[in-house]
Amino acid sequence: METRIQIRFGELSTKGKNKKRFVQKLAQNIRMATKEYPQIKIKPDYDFIFLDLNGADEAVITERLKSVFGIQSFSPVYVLPRDFETARTFIVDMVQKMETAGKTFKIATRRSDHSYQYDTNWLNAEFGAAVLQNVPDITVDVKKPDITVRVDVKQEHFLISTKKYDGAGGLPVGSSGKGMLMLSGGIDSPVAGYFAMKRGVEVEAVHFHSPPYTSPQALQKAQNLAWKLTKFGGSIQFIEVPFTEIQEEIKAKVPEGYLMTVTRRMMLRLTDQIREKRKGMAIFNGESLGQVASQTMDSMQAINDVTTTPIIRPVATMDKLEIIEIAQKIDTFDLSIQPFEDCCTIFAPAAPKTKPKLDKARRYESMLDVEGLIERAMEGLVITQITQEASSEKEKEATFADLL
Ligand code: ATP
Ligand code: MG
Repeated sequence: METRIQIRFGELSTKGKNKKRFVQKLAQNIRMATKEYPQIKIKPDYDFIFLDLNGADEAVITERLKSVFGIQSFSPVYVLPRDFETARTFIVDMVQKMETAGKTFKIATRRSDHSYQYDTNWLNAEFGAAVLQNVPDITVDVKKPDITVRVDVKQEHFLISTKKYDGAGGLPVGSSGKGMLMLSGGIDSPVAGYFAMKRGVEVEAVHFHSPPYTSPQALQKAQNLAWKLTKFGGSIQFIEVPFTEIQEEIKAKVPEGYLMTVTRRMMLRLTDQIREKRKGMAIFNGESLGQVASQTMDSMQAINDVTTTPIIRPVATMDKLEIIEIAQKIDTFDLSIQPFEDCCTIFAPAAPKTKPKLDKARRYESMLDVEGLIERAMEGLVITQITQEASSEKEKEATFADLL
């Protein structure tokens, strides 16, 4: 008996000409997500991707597939020799292992090979009777059964399946192009990154840090968050931007009320330059309307002024509690609430303007050597590739940090 997983891709099926590229991307991402199992065979087809386990653990692979974007649903399919007795024994065995008390079932047979000696009605009746005889407290319901056992009679074998799992939906990571994620150590930006990936964006994380004002732990925390996101799409380039000089300059030269606005403008400028250099197409951040002073629409106007690049704010319209719920679901929340402050918190003025004026922001900023500052920060970029494999180490560090 061989186990094959039949993977359906929903939204992709409507993508016409691009479909082939999408399916290939998805197949690649599935390969990445199951890398430690080289024996697995992945076969992209027109309407499905088939994955032959070749002995890999079904439960582990099932869990992995649930986080791969672009999968609508999937079902393990058991491939049996085309022999009636073998199939009957297998079906009874399989149903016996399920939770069946008080449940209903039906057998749904189809014949891809019409020359097979028995017809579907006969097979349904025989397999159904075998289940009824051997499984206590189960009844037949052909209209709305709790359990459907699908049997497909092929030329060479029987294909049998019962389970159908929901996939993560969305589009395969990488199929929409590349974007820069402004990743702090907070709760919101990892959630924004998750949503970007969900719509097929290959994300590169840009993180600003200001040593010695910010600690190595704050940097590690942001990297750990990036690592948590790799679960949804292979590897992530993590780009550290040295931000100390810029923050000191701003603090020295810009009036208190505009510290935050000018700081954000500089961050956005830098992110945009990095994006250009690395051929990204958009910028993603974790801003949520009205959450703090820098996230009012007035602030957005005064900050967004430095670029015409699309800035996508996946959590802009969500409440904090809704964002937290997702952070918990994607397992970034516990890391995000660790108490290591990032550069914004440390330099934050007591009372930032909630309605900064664009002309003032421009004027105060012109007191800085913007070009020189940006150039020097760009020279100091440090790029690390973060992969899922580093997992056990990172997990250890994360747990360790939790205990401190
Ligand atoms: P988060 O929970 O994502 O930190 P927040 O509610 O704390 O968000 P801010 O600190 O105002 O809000 O940051 C708004 C957005 O700016 C963040 O979501 C993130 O995208 C970006 N950002 C803030 N600080 C940094 C940083 N140190 N490095 C990279 N991006 C940052
Ligand atoms: Mg923050």
